[in-house]
Amino acid sequence: MKNKRLATQQIHGKMENRTQEGPCTAPIFQASSFESARAEDLADIFQKRKFGYIYSRIQNPTIAHFEERLQILDGGIGAIALSSGMAAISTALLAILKQGDELVTGNSLFGGTYSLFTHLFSRFGIQVTYVEPTDAQALKAAISPKTKALYVETIGNPKIDVPDIAVWSAVAKEAGLPLIVDNTVAPGLLDAKGLGVDILVYSTSKYINGNGNAIGGAIVDLGTFRFASEHFEEFKPYTQKFGPLAFLAKARKEVFMNLGGCLAPQNAFLQAIGLETLEMRMKQHSHNALAVAQFLESSDKVKAVRYPGLASHPQYSVAQKQFAGQCSGLLTLDVGTQEKAFAAINARSFTRNLSNIGDAKTLLLHPASTIYADYDEETRLLMGVTPGLIRVSIGIENTQDLLEEFESILKAV
Ligand SMILES: *Cc1c(COP(=O)(O)O)cnc(C)c1O
Repeated sequence: MKNKRLATQQIHGKMENRTQEGPCTAPIFQASSFESARAEDLADIFQKRKFGYIYSRIQNPTIAHFEERLQILDGGIGAIALSSGMAAISTALLAILKQGDELVTGNSLFGGTYSLFTHLFSRFGIQVTYVEPTDAQALKAAISPKTKALYVETIGNPKIDVPDIAVWSAVAKEAGLPLIVDNTVAPGLLDAKGLGVDILVYSTSKYINGNGNAIGGAIVDLGTFRFASEHFEEFKPYTQKFGPLAFLAKARKEVFMNLGGCLAPQNAFLQAIGLETLEMRMKQHSHNALAVAQFLESSDKVKAVRYPGLASHPQYSVAQKQFAGQCSGLLTLDVGTQEKAFAAINARSFTRNLSNIGDAKTLLLHPASTIYADYDEETRLLMGVTPGLIRVSIGIENTQDLLEEFESILKAV
């Protein structure tokens, strides 16, 4: 299927191992463990003389199917599916970082990732340095001899800022470091390989699943970074044994299997179904979001709108170049005060008031009183979380219905 385009590959996969009587979707292997006929067979599998399934924390055919599909999405050399986006992020980074190492990242991170770095990594002596993700000079200046990786998100949330991934990758290459990108918000829109990304992490709970029915995560290795230099000496046994697959082998064996962040087979099944329609859904998310953003920008009840597809967005040209004209479904609007934001959310009809993104349904959230409620006002403002801010994850509903929904929501403001 290599000669087919992405949308076709997403639906049909690699088309290997097909049989005449095969089921039209990958079956759910709802089993904790797998039997071998003879003791010799199980010994062979354990000692890697032949491939076989052992135990579902380690691998399972339904999960393997989802991993194969994930690999197709970005043209990776391999993938690991995990129980959540947070499991993917922690596993990928802990495969590279040890005590005394440093990580350089952007300052508009997803809240859970920020919490992982500040509350957990700090306890194990891993130092994280934050930079303005759109400031290339600051990024270069933050790299020290102890830095082991650069980490950035494609579209910050709720700041909706768009770092230039080509700039991050040029800095990473110059410094001899791997670039890890959390592309949860723009799956299928970013030419990660072409832009020089080395490793992708995803929360598959969002756009990849697309229907808000399961939590999951993924690591995809594009195979472009070789952990072969002295700087990555702990990789030596892996580069010698696994060559280009060293990172995935280390992540799987040392971190994934030990921390136990495995995906449930049922959830792997649901995520894999989501992947089949990803390209089509991202088109509609992006189309709807641009239409709603333009409408909101034209309203005098809205103080500010942030959407990378609007010409008024500070990184509009980066977004156009980076996402080939589709800017995904996340936007924010500021209606001035918390009271007005609450009134707007409470005036909704078919849109939902909940904490998630990337669903087929349009979702509204007041960040200051929910996800960011634990922060003081000053920190919230630094994160771009103003009292009147509403975060919207635009769904794939009919565009005209969405415009009418926001028109009536604004009437309550
Ligand atoms: C949701 C999200 C995560 C965490 O994913 P979970 O599946 O909730 O663990 C990480 N990064 C980004 C950008 C997210 O939106």
